[in-house]
Amino acid sequence: MDVNDIENVAVLGAGNMGHGITEVVAMAGYSVTMRDVEKEFIEDGYESIEWSLQKLAEKDRLGESPETVLDRIETTVDLADAVSDADLVIEAAPEQLDLKRDIFGDLDELTPEDAVLASNTSSLSITRIAEATERPDQVVGMHFFNPPVKMDLVEVIYGEETTDATAETAYEFVEAIDKTPIYVRKDVNGFVVNSVLGPFMDEPAWMVSNGNATIQQADAAMVHRRGYPMGPFELADLTGLDVGYHVRNEAGRPIPPILQEKVDAEDLGRKTGRGYYDYEEGDGPDYDPEDGEDFDTLQVEARMANEAAKLIGDDVATADAVDTGMRLGAGFPEGPCRRADKIGLDAVLEKLESLHEETGADRFDPADYLVTLVESGATGRDAGEGFYEYDTGGTRDYQFLNHDLDDGVLTVELDRPEQLNALSEDLLGEIDHLLSNVDVDDVRCVVFEGAGDRAFSAGADIGGFADATPTDFMDVTPAFETVHEFDRPTLAKVDGFCLGAGLELALACDLRLATEGSEFGSPEIGLGLIPGGGGTQRLLRMLGETRAKELVFRGNRIDAERAEEWGLINRCVPEDEFDDVVAEFVDDLVSGPPIALKVAKTVMNEGGEVGLDAGLAMESQGFGLLMGTEDVREGTAAFREDRDPEFEGN
Ligand code: NAD
Repeated sequence: MDVNDIENVAVLGAGNMGHGITEVVAMAGYSVTMRDVEKEFIEDGYESIEWSLQKLAEKDRLGESPETVLDRIETTVDLADAVSDADLVIEAAPEQLDLKRDIFGDLDELTPEDAVLASNTSSLSITRIAEATERPDQVVGMHFFNPPVKMDLVEVIYGEETTDATAETAYEFVEAIDKTPIYVRKDVNGFVVNSVLGPFMDEPAWMVSNGNATIQQADAAMVHRRGYPMGPFELADLTGLDVGYHVRNEAGRPIPPILQEKVDAEDLGRKTGRGYYDYEEGDGPDYDPEDGEDFDTLQVEARMANEAAKLIGDDVATADAVDTGMRLGAGFPEGPCRRADKIGLDAVLEKLESLHEETGADRFDPADYLVTLVESGATGRDAGEGFYEYDTGGTRDYQFLNHDLDDGVLTVELDRPEQLNALSEDLLGEIDHLLSNVDVDDVRCVVFEGAGDRAFSAGADIGGFADATPTDFMDVTPAFETVHEFDRPTLAKVDGFCLGAGLELALACDLRLATEGSEFGSPEIGLGLIPGGGGTQRLLRMLGETRAKELVFRGNRIDAERAEEWGLINRCVPEDEFDDVVAEFVDDLVSGPPIALKVAKTVMNEGGEVGLDAGLAMESQGFGLLMGTEDVREGTAAFREDRDPEFEGN
């Protein structure tokens, strides 16, 4: 089955996952039949879809009416009805192996012979499920995350017999429904995301059990010093302590005593009112940023890196897949491989080895792949190579940026859609590196845009600030200046939120175009801060004191229409005309005379900072300089000959 041949999809189960999967598949334009065992379960699931589509429509995030999407969804309690003409079946029934094997046995009888059969299981073996059919080669894992409408990641898992063709179809289907797939090439327990999440939760539980840390200390350190969205104990309370407990038991792994105690006392987390924190008599997680001092975060991160190394060394996943999985599936600020490369793999290995020696515990046994990397000198970013390769002759792999240079247009996409493209120090560093190393002669203009459909960039990434000292922030991050001073015109293509540091990046660009639904603002004041990437100064110069102070002091957002009226952006454009308007601007910039554009940019940037006389002098100088160029000869000749000029930049 080729992905292009998929027309009809069946989803089995209308519960939490089933109805969410049905919704995203229908939103992507496929006909879907959702099946459950009782009519009332279907009705509940269908109502949840209606509610969710309505919400998306209200937020302008649905390109069509909810009714149009709903028209693509059929429901039934009859399995044969649901699957007899399905090209792809996605099973999201309860997590019981026997039940799933029964279902797949039936699917084998009832579906067209070339149909792809997928399971959304979180923890069962795809191989064991596939064995219930006569076509295990066409069975694959398709692990969505909860809730499917919001979560971007889908793990595509190979069972032992799954063919590349089947896995590829599943992978491409995930892309077709606008989600991000990663390959999990072997059917390992926990797949990728839950495998790496294991040590994140497990190691702090051991540290607390052994009296080496407190719950608050661990959570505060991981959130405030290391930038994770939630602390390990807070996360365990949310997912349910019994869930993690069963997973460990199934995998035959030892249970940290503190977890055993909690499970014995039936304190299972939020759902029982009490877990590691008290939600009934207390207010839940009660840690402060300063509680995290002295917690050994490396002990936890070294174990995650080790788990990642095992997956990579065993050919289960690539470093990139692991990192993408953890960013999109667990909301990590960066993947464990990138982070370990930054820490230094030698330091990671040393930590594991010393803990292994000290405790004798298997969980610190270093992965062969990690040892091989370190022994070969690939100790991470500083060495130029670790899990990834870095900086070879000015080119490098970027973690948070996509870039493409095509016919003189350098498109730079901020690629952290799961964090609304928040600008972290790393991302800003990558922008700086890219613009500082690109061959300017190949570039005629730069377009910045945000990945995903929600934001250009919603601000700075403030996770992990607690580890920084005030002097770390004394200098304005060079990226904003690099963009501002880049020798070619720069344009911010804003579709969605453009806030805080995101707005500052747009302000550092020469031109700004935005869709009507976009929103602008400097919310820093609400955090007790001020804009720190040039925002106060650029807003002042661009908008004048009255409006600039309104934005900075009140911290409120303004819509694109007002932003245009204020002169913050060049155009506010209806969504369906946006790409065309951007293309018109870009065409003019790309076909314009590079040297004259560079001189215009310089004298206008610098002229704004000096008195009129000095500005006029700069302009005359620039004018004189241009008179001797080939481009001026070409421009005037083309004008005489009534044709379009072809500027070479000479
Ligand atoms: P759920 O209990 O909310 O829904 C399961 C639904 O399947 C129920 O409505 C049930 O009536 C229905 N069902 C039972 N037998 C069926 C059958 N033979 N055919 C069709 N439907 C049947 O469970 P859920 O949270 O949606 O989980 C479903 C699957 O997704 C499980 O395998 C689970 O491990 C996996 N998963 C869950 C999450 C999560 O966070 N909830 C995340 C990823 C994957």
